[in-house]
Amino acid sequence: MQPFDYTAYTQALHTLPHPPRILRVGLSRFGRGLYLVRVGTDRPQGLIHGAIHAREHITAHVVYALMQEYAAQYRLGMPTVDFLPMVNPDGVELAIHGLSTVPPVHRAYLTAISRGSPFSLWKANGIGVDLNVNFDADWGSGKQNLRTAGAENYIGPHPHSEPESRALVRLTRTYRYRWSLSYHAKGSVVYYGYGEGAHAHQGQRLALLVADYLGYTASQSVGSAGGYKDWHTRLDSAVSALTVEVGKDEYPHPYPMEDLPRILAENKGIVQLVANEWKER
Ligand SMILES: [Zn+2]
Repeated sequence: MQPFDYTAYTQALHTLPHPPRILRVGLSRFGRGLYLVRVGTDRPQGLIHGAIHAREHITAHVVYALMQEYAAQYRLGMPTVDFLPMVNPDGVELAIHGLSTVPPVHRAYLTAISRGSPFSLWKANGIGVDLNVNFDADWGSGKQNLRTAGAENYIGPHPHSEPESRALVRLTRTYRYRWSLSYHAKGSVVYYGYGEGAHAHQGQRLALLVADYLGYTASQSVGSAGGYKDWHTRLDSAVSALTVEVGKDEYPHPYPMEDLPRILAENKGIVQLVANEWKER
């Protein structure tokens, strides 16, 4: 099975049998479209996104497959769900195909900030900002946060400095999603809540449901700041925002594609489960 690069992803969008609504919700740093697929006809109640971290591009495959599954099952009256399989296409292209995917003017800079580490292990966006520490949730206070650009953990010059994180902020503010699943790799863990204060246990109920279904561990996220889940949790105390880490810890990065069928089988039905849980409230 091939990695799901940007070209494969955008081509796949064009082959959807009954095209659900495809919305371009922003452009990456280097001008690649950020394509969202909306399954349903009402106001969307939840958002599922993947590949915010470049080397975790297997999660674009996972989110795309979840979208296809939900679209195939969809009947009028079912909750509308938004899917954004690839939040960070520039990073994904860099991780899969290397520097040739980057505009020439940025290549020397990226080579310098990579400090010799292979681009296949890159997590950040095209200019070395780690999107999942770029959100406005105690930005810059995370334990592993860095102040210099590189493969991972650089928070950016200010919160929401990157077009990819801004696209998620805009979407979330516009549609006021009641839940969100951010797909990452790896560890087979579902993280919920934010910080040690009022939001510490927020989303626990959904996290336990999801973790039980997937056979993962549910865990509070301690010491995390500036992530999408952190920001979405803090935005509204009624929101359940989860980070879903697929895959086994014993595998290396980039996560081997050979394990994708197992991950897909594990996640089958998760969207229906989460959407129905919320519908019944
Ligand atoms: Zn990640």
